[in-house]
Amino acid sequence: MTRTQVAIIGAGPAGLLLGQLLDKQGIDNVILERQTGAYVLGRIRAGIIEQGTVGLLDSVGASARLHAEGLVHDGAQVSVDGTRHRIDFRALTGRAVTVYGQTEITRDLMKVRADSGRATVYEARDVSLHDLDSATPIVRYEKDGARQEIACDYIAGCDGFHAVSRQAIPLNKLTTHERIYPFGWLGLLSETKPVSDELIYVRHERGFALCSMRSPTRSRYYIQCSLADSIDAWPDSRFWDELALRLDSDARRNLVTGPSIEKSIAPLRSFVAEPMRYHRLFLAGDAAHIVPPTGAKGLNLAASDVGYLSAALAEFYRTGSTRGLDTYSERALRRVWLAERFSWWMTSLLHHFPDHSSFDRRVQLAELEYLFSSRAAATALAENYVGLPF
Ligand SMILES: Cc1cc2nc3c(=O)[nH]c(=O)nc-3n(C[C@H](O)[C@H](O)[C@H](O)COP(=O)(O)OP(=O)(O)OC[C@H]3O[C@@H](n4cnc5c(N)ncnc54)[C@H](O)[C@@H]3O)c2cc1C
Repeated sequence: MTRTQVAIIGAGPAGLLLGQLLDKQGIDNVILERQTGAYVLGRIRAGIIEQGTVGLLDSVGASARLHAEGLVHDGAQVSVDGTRHRIDFRALTGRAVTVYGQTEITRDLMKVRADSGRATVYEARDVSLHDLDSATPIVRYEKDGARQEIACDYIAGCDGFHAVSRQAIPLNKLTTHERIYPFGWLGLLSETKPVSDELIYVRHERGFALCSMRSPTRSRYYIQCSLADSIDAWPDSRFWDELALRLDSDARRNLVTGPSIEKSIAPLRSFVAEPMRYHRLFLAGDAAHIVPPTGAKGLNLAASDVGYLSAALAEFYRTGSTRGLDTYSERALRRVWLAERFSWWMTSLLHHFPDHSSFDRRVQLAELEYLFSSRAAATALAENYVGLPF
């Protein structure tokens, strides 16, 4: 059996960032990841980074490439049935967001992790959590066919939506809240020039679309699709044709198509499990909550969770006080629910809902008209999009 102070389950953004935030405080930690590093890097996910998240990456020395290669966006555009409007984040809030892919953040965090010499065990199979209500919880796993055990003070469950850590909490100690949306996002990544310098969120009668990017030469596009759709039904040519139909004429003219590098369908879900603590186990990131990607909040919430948790653990190891640990769940959930609300609102505002009546559709259009005609309404969107403070 080995010993550490904090055992972290999962080497996604939450686990890797937490590991380095703890390392900076001199707190010993081990990360256990089920997959290989290459598999983790192969997942194409988030791309919009709040300033608060950038600040945490700065503090662990993992942001040099982000500052060199990330694209700072002062605003975003919203196209409604062919007419484009701009929301100026900088003018409305004084803040901006950075476009930099989750894959690159993960790569940067893996590098500082390796440089720090702290342990990350990839391909750790059958992770299980024990004695959570004792002073020394235990994590068991299998590596290369051999059973291993780690004794620790605390466990951080950073293992994503299908978390074994959340499943280790007795059902009667956890309350879950969930909404499943009646559509998915079909995403396509291509080595093509983005259609615009800023993201374009598209509300169209045929369904939502999003023109996003990862760099000046790499585009990420999404179109709302049916949950019954399969990737095989969407050859690249069909994707580009459908996207073009939802764009305004300027964007359609600028659209550069090309072969997909990656294409996948993601269902849209809102989910919160609370509290985010059970005795010596703390949940962080997707292990505790999921948002639909419309508000670009998932990765940023994972970062704010581990920001709170690392500060609480540092306080405990420095002073012996459990005040921060005792209030972690409450503090994290306050920000989680604000992001849940915003992500639900952006999704409701921009998607075509199959069960919407003509009344619902007219209200959706009125809400958009209000957004473009009221500085107060635009500011409400902007301050949530750039990220509420933490
Ligand atoms: C298709 C898609 C698009 C998205 N787009 C956006 C976006 O534009 N903006 C945004 O902010 N967010 C987006 N998100 C959400 C964002 O990617 C997640 O919120 C973010 O990855 C959460 O990080 P995490 O570390 O909590 O979880 P994860 O990234 O899921 O990491 C969890 C890790 O735990 C590991 N693990 C799981 N089970 C075990 C186990 N039993 N033992 C050991 N390890 C385990 C997993 O392999 C994984 O590496 C998107 C998500 C998806 C799926």
